[in-house]
Parts: sequence; C-alpha cells; structure tokens
Amino acid sequence: MRYAETGFELEVDLSRGSIDRVESDPELTKLHLGGLGTSARILWDRVPAETEAFSEDNLLIFATGLLCGTAAPGCNRTVVSTFSPQTQLLAYSMMGGFWAPELKHAGYDKVIIRGKSPELVYLWINNDKVEIRDAAHLRGKGAIETAECIRQELKEPNAQVAAIGLAGENRVFYASIEQGRSSASRGGIGAVMGDKGLKAIVVRGTKDVNVARPAEFMKLCDEVLQYIKFRADHPIPGVPAILQGLGSPQEMAIVDEQWHTTSFMWGNARTRRKDFWTHEIEDKWRKSQEDVRTRLISCYNCPMKCGATISVPGQPTYMMKCYSKLTYTMAAYSDLEFGFKIAQRATEYGVDGFSAPQVMAFALELLEAGILSDADFPGMPADVEGRFFWLLDRIVRREGIGDALADGVYWAARRIGKGAEKFDHNTIKKHEQLPLKLGMLNPVYYLMYATGEKINITQIEGQFPQAPFPTMEEREAFVKDWFQVPDDKFKRYLLEWEPRGEKSNPHYPSVEASCDVVDWQEKMHYIDDALGTCAGLSSFPLKPPYHIHNFPKFISAGTGIEFDSASVWKAATRNRTLLRAINVRRGMRRADDKPPEDHWKKRFPDLEKTLLDEYYKLKGWNANGIPTRESLLDLDLACVAEDLEQRGILGDANAGSDKAGEETQAKEALSHA
Ligand code: SF4
Repeated sequence: MRYAETGFELEVDLSRGSIDRVESDPELTKLHLGGLGTSARILWDRVPAETEAFSEDNLLIFATGLLCGTAAPGCNRTVVSTFSPQTQLLAYSMMGGFWAPELKHAGYDKVIIRGKSPELVYLWINNDKVEIRDAAHLRGKGAIETAECIRQELKEPNAQVAAIGLAGENRVFYASIEQGRSSASRGGIGAVMGDKGLKAIVVRGTKDVNVARPAEFMKLCDEVLQYIKFRADHPIPGVPAILQGLGSPQEMAIVDEQWHTTSFMWGNARTRRKDFWTHEIEDKWRKSQEDVRTRLISCYNCPMKCGATISVPGQPTYMMKCYSKLTYTMAAYSDLEFGFKIAQRATEYGVDGFSAPQVMAFALELLEAGILSDADFPGMPADVEGRFFWLLDRIVRREGIGDALADGVYWAARRIGKGAEKFDHNTIKKHEQLPLKLGMLNPVYYLMYATGEKINITQIEGQFPQAPFPTMEEREAFVKDWFQVPDDKFKRYLLEWEPRGEKSNPHYPSVEASCDVVDWQEKMHYIDDALGTCAGLSSFPLKPPYHIHNFPKFISAGTGIEFDSASVWKAATRNRTLLRAINVRRGMRRADDKPPEDHWKKRFPDLEKTLLDEYYKLKGWNANGIPTRESLLDLDLACVAEDLEQRGILGDANAGSDKAGEETQAKEALSHA
C-alpha cells in the first residue's frame, strides 16, 4: 500500500488516442519525493535531449506534489513541466487552487501527456473512467469560459478544469494554463498544451487519500495551523508590508503598494518612479481595489485567502492572481483600474501576467524609437490603455506584428532586427524577468538570477531577508525566534550584514555566505515543488510554518517512508542537480548563467566570477556549471553521469567557456529562425 501518493499515473498518448493507468516505481519516491522531482526524472529518462518543444515526443506532465490532497495545510500545488518553446530548456510552473488534490482523489499522482491530437480535444478524468473528448466547440473560447462550458456539459459543477485560452491554442510562447483560482504561467507550457491539441484536463475525484500515520500527521497539521495564526498576530517589523506576513504575498488583501510601485520599474523595465506613491494614489487605488474585489479566496485546504474574485462592471468575474494587478498597470504607466480590466481579458486568453505586459511595453518602445512604425500597428488606438488591449488581441491571435511579439521579447527582437535587440534588456535565458533595475550588485540575488533553473526570481528567493536591518537591535530581535534556519550560521550572516560600509553589498554577505544563503533558499523551493506545498507558506516568506525541521516529519508520517533533515536535504539536492543536468544536456552552459547587463548599475566582474565559481563548487559542479561525475554518483544519479559521459559533456573542459556558450546561443537562434 502506498501512502500520501496513489502510486498510479495516467499515460495519455494523444497521437494514438490511448490512455493507460500505470503503476509508478516507489523507489523514485524515495529518491525524488514527487511533484517536480519525479517529473524531472521522467523527462530525463524519456525525452531525448534533442526534442523540440513542439515535437510529438515532448512530454507535458501534470504532477501532484507528494503531500497534495492530504490534510497538510496549503499542500495543493500542481506542477506542470515540459520543454519550453521560449527558453528551449526545462519549463516548470506551479499552480495552486484545487486541481492537484482533485487528481489525487481521483486516484492518480500524475497525468503524462505525449503526442498530438489531430483535432482539439479535452481529457475527462472521472475517478476510474477516463476519456478523450471532442473540444471543437471550445475552440477560441477563453480559459474560464471553457471551464464553465465543460462543467455544464458534463453536469459536474465540482469538476476542476485546467484549460488554455486562445494564446495556448495559437502557441504563444508565454501562454499559460488557467485553473479558476490559479494558473501555471511561466515558460510557455500553455503553448505546448495547445500544440498537443489539448484544450483542457478536467478532473473529478472522490476517493480517499491515505496517510501512513494519521494521528501523528494531524498533530503536525495542527502545529502548522497554530503557527499560521501566531504569524498573523506577529507581522515581521522593519520589512515592506508585502513581506510582513505569510501567503503568496497578500496582494489582494492589502492596498499599500508603495514598495512595488516605487522600487520596480515601469514601462519596458525602464523607469523608476520613486515618488509615485502618495496619499492621493493610495486612496484612489484603495477605492479601485475595494470596488471590484468581491471576496478574498483561498486555495484547497488553506486559511490564507491570498486571491480574490474580481468583478469589474461589464466584465465577467475572474480571479486575480498574485502580482498581476500591477504588472499591466506599471508596464502601461497606467493605474489600478486599468490593471483590473485588462487582467480579465488576459486571464481568458491565458497569458503569463509577467511576460505579456513586458512584451507589449517593449513593442511600444520600439514604435517610439522608430524601429517599428505606425504601419506595423494599423488601427491601433492613440491612448496607451487602448494600445495595450489592441496589442494583447493581436498577440494571442498571432496577427500582424502580434506574430513576432507572441514569441516573447528575446525572439521578437531578433526577428524585428534593426537594433531591436538593444531593447531586449530584461530577459534571462530568453525569458522575461521582473521589471527591476537596481544600483549596487547584491551577491545573493546575482547568484539566484544567474543560476536559477526556474528562470524566475520570485520562485527562487525567500527565507533570508532581502535587505539588511539598519540597527543591531532589529537584527537581534529578528534572529531571536528564527528557528527555521537549517544552521545557526545564517543568524550570524544576518547579524553582521550592514546597510553600508565593509559589511554591505556587494562584499557582504561574503562569497561563502552568499552561496550558503542561495543554497538554503533554493533547496526550500525544491522541497516545496516536490511536495506540492505552496511557497507562500514555506519557501517564499520570512519565518514560514514549513521548514527543514518539520518537513521530514510530514513526509515520514505521510508516506511511512522514514526521512530526516539530511535525507530531505539530499533529495532536494538530487532534484536540483537533475534539473541542472537536464538543461546542461540541452546545451546550457556557464555563459548562459547571467543576469541582464543593466540589472545593477554597479557591477563587479571579478567578484561575480568568484561567486559563480564558488557556487558551482558548493553544488558539486565543475567550472563550466556541469555536475561532476563524483557529485552525480554521490546523489545516486549514475545513469545521468553515464549519459553525460557518453555525450562527451562530463569531460568537456571548454564546455563552459564564453565561446561555447555563445556558440550554443547562435545555434539555437539559427534553429529557431
Ligand atoms: S498561501 Fe495563498 S496561494 Fe498559498 S495555498 Fe494558501 S491561499 Fe493559496
């Protein structure tokens, strides 16, 4: 008997129209836990390195985390993984909501999709009954509209629907998969779903999910709930409002957006408006938010209520996710009212709320610079808000200039040419990033931006404060009850970190401390992504209820497989290394590990080189960023070592040189063109 997980996966081949229920290997749970970890293993084992994103052989995996569907609060993440059309590397994105727990209750840990359907279809999973159904009548429909239509036609109001909109159908490189209260948006996984001819996966599950030691497990759950209450009453002092509490962050509950609007950039990551936030703006934005916010809502089994239903007069109700309320607003230099309006249409179309606004701002910048002309935008309104709606409509249909823009800033810039490449100043590994441009290099963030396999900073950071506390008194107060640290050295790192002087950025945290901090932060994300824990209760906020000391207890009591902190840490290290190996096998090298040139005004090339060198060493990678044979064997990844060796990658001394990286990029650009 398997506990916490079901031990079964659905294998669906859309080319052949076949559906198989397959038992999974319990050894893989011990090695990789579940969720992203076991999905990565499947992608490594079954998708050849040369496979293009839009190939029949590319897999699209919907995975539940190991603890999804159990009573563990906030364990509800669906991890969708595949190969990205935009980065051509591994893409993985999480969605909250209710989908993953529903799949567990239907009796499956994963749905593994391969092949392509000649006609548009959807998959209907109703406990043991699974069928591929015609979706021709849903072509062109919005993602939320699709979910509603399907629930009605199946007469299943409680079915959970993960669907794509027009953007996914038209293979927009930053198309999302929407799921009512959440979405999996990064990396273009919605485009892969569209390419496979799959409009939606619909799930209804009514079976039990068993845990190995229920009484012990419930006690752990109670402790987490108690701590969540404690943290609600004890916000962290001395940090921006958005970082004081738990959750993902509480964008829809709070109105104070001073930190985002004055620290982040507007337009195409271009302009900082340090004086933007005033009492007048706060009052106006409060009214805008309260006028449309119907109610605050939570994901499955979570008390946090991070999301909200939004009802803008004249538009269907939708759910606002996380930071999207500001991404469109700030890219267009507009206001919150506009942000709420356009987010509704963008959600129906199914596009990533981080990438889409930046692509549109980039297009308007090219127009202003004369690289594009009015002829490229026939009939576009004069006002900036109208322009954003106009551009969004064309991008998701790949009409006119929208076709190039649908490939994202990196590829569009190269297709448009005429100097447009210079305006691609905020991508990493061909993927749009948060619109942040700062002064002094921050060594911890340098490493995370450069090396994060997720290529998405918000899902790598957390745990360690983003900036030093000004006074020793504040630092001492912070570390006093900081029991989440895996080692007391992190307290020392924080106590010694000063806003100015020798012990400040870029030289402090020191190289060693920076590597340790990044290692801790990313490991927590890898644990979450394997267990299905929401980062908002674990790896993202300061002092969260889940941490390295209670995770092993949850896993042991849940699965009946004994884990301690060391073995959980090792599983996270294994997963992190496997993801690196997957991307290395696809050509990624040290030269690709770099943040945008202008992310910081003050750069320190020698220090940055040392940071990368030492981070690689800590990870067990060589100077080229390639996991060494020894570290792979130590992590029980002999098959990975063997494959990389056969390809000549493990012994490739030049593989990490800038030249090799540039050649890889040039080759990719050529193959894409
Ligand atoms: S913390 Fe927020 S985003 Fe996370 S599971 Fe709970 S409600 Fe959802």
